[in-house]
Amino acid sequence: MNYKDSEQEAKWRTEVSQFLTAEAPEEYRVHHKPAVDSYGSGDETFQAWRKAVGRKGWLASHWPKEYGGASLSVMEQFIMKEEFALARVPHPGGRAVEMVGPTIILHGNDQQKSELLPPILSGEHIYCQGFSEPQAGSDLAAVQLRAVRQGDDYILNGQKIWTSNATTCNWMFLLARTDPDAPKHRGISYFVTPVDVPGLTVRTIEDMAGGHELCEAFFDDVRIPATYRIGEENRGWYVAMTTLDFERSGIAGAVGVQLSLLDLIQILKQNGTGSHRRTELAEYYIESCVAREMSYHVADLQNRGLVPNYEASMVKLFSSELSRRVATASVGTLGLPGTLLKGSKGYEVQEGRIARYYSGSIPSTIAGGTSEVQRGIIATRGLGLPRG
Ligand SMILES: Cc1cc2nc3c(=O)[nH]c(=O)nc-3n(C[C@H](O)[C@H](O)[C@H](O)COP(=O)(O)OP(=O)(O)OC[C@H]3O[C@@H](n4cnc5c(N)ncnc54)[C@H](O)[C@@H]3O)c2cc1C
Repeated sequence: MNYKDSEQEAKWRTEVSQFLTAEAPEEYRVHHKPAVDSYGSGDETFQAWRKAVGRKGWLASHWPKEYGGASLSVMEQFIMKEEFALARVPHPGGRAVEMVGPTIILHGNDQQKSELLPPILSGEHIYCQGFSEPQAGSDLAAVQLRAVRQGDDYILNGQKIWTSNATTCNWMFLLARTDPDAPKHRGISYFVTPVDVPGLTVRTIEDMAGGHELCEAFFDDVRIPATYRIGEENRGWYVAMTTLDFERSGIAGAVGVQLSLLDLIQILKQNGTGSHRRTELAEYYIESCVAREMSYHVADLQNRGLVPNYEASMVKLFSSELSRRVATASVGTLGLPGTLLKGSKGYEVQEGRIARYYSGSIPSTIAGGTSEVQRGIIATRGLGLPRG
């Protein structure tokens, strides 16, 4: 593939970059404030930024224009994500724009499109993802949350877990079992529902860094109108899978790990320390360049109309594990101050960014498919090895 931008792509990159320089909040761009609690928590900076990106027409960059999107090509989406990541500015689309909207556009009926898409674009409906269950994570098709048709509604009973941001989101997209007798991939349906409905209880789970974004959701005779089933009954697995068909090069993660490494190097230069880890850090830098090249490769495949599968797993595996190595090296090099969060009487490094980076690097090898599962995909689909 050609790693250089075409003339048109270079023009687009400049346009995105100029917009970010002119409009992105300084908190992100200059002070590198993380976009925490961006899912419906009312963070003012984030909400204002969301509106600015929306006004520009880039919020739903991959949606077709007729639904309020920008109809960007895969490569344009890729360049946009890369520029946002390089500027350390969050793209405020979120799961609603990235995952639910495209699913409704592909599989929803006209009524669902006109009712459910506008509130996603206006930021009124903020979605969490109710896929994982206590016994269904890597093996997602094992979902047991039961949905039984009753007249015009479905009645749902069961549990979801690891539902990020469920306490601050007001809608959820979820998978539920509608036919327990069918083969497991063929008895699942895809639904959306407001979170604030009778019988749906959400509880937070404290994570290792003291965060409260992870949640579990309990369904006790929750009634969802059949009009909120997206796609055919029992075809939900296939509906959910198409959501993954959009740009998925993992470029933001690959850029993120490189910037974190450059941050570390900057601190070490200022402190005049870390020279004993020179070779190790140089190796990580080379690996971060490899991660970015891998992302380019995935985007290029998609841009040529091909569907990456093991290639996307390679990026996910390599970037998230590299992130762990860099985060561990950061804490290892900086010592105890590197483990302190913001508000630690000034002893923390970079307002606690290093500590947050470290605690975030650990779940990154689990969320969105564990490293072992990615290795399995690479082994079987990439290398053609037999299943174990
Ligand atoms: C920070 C974070 C946020 C998340 N947010 C959400 C969310 O918003 N919505 C949502 O639905 N889910 C979410 N998840 C859940 C996530 O998708 C699952 O944790 C993940 O898919 C793994 O499933 P599991 O936790 O059930 O582990 P399991 O699947 O039970 O795996 C346990 C261990 O067995 C290994 N293993 C499992 N299967 C295989 C295999 N075939 N080959 C080799 N090893 C295997 C795994 O690698 C792992 O080490 C989130 C998770 C995290 C960490």
